[in-house]
Amino acid sequence: MEKWLCEVCGYVYDPAVGAEEVPPGTPFEDLPDDWVCPECYAEKDRFSLEALNRDKGVKRK
Ligand SMILES: [Zn+2]
Repeated sequence: MEKWLCEVCGYVYDPAVGAEEVPPGTPFEDLPDDWVCPECYAEKDRFSLEALNRDKGVKRK
């Protein structure tokens, strides 16, 4: 399962860990639409999969 990065505060949602009131093993896609970042209360659409991969140093030409 993929981790998702909050572009507002840098919080990373890790599906293996879950979050407050979210049981471990919950994919980001399965979070309720009104779920917000536990750190900064940003909405789900502020989270980015691509940004996290970019930060991990995925090779670019
Ligand atoms: Zn956040």
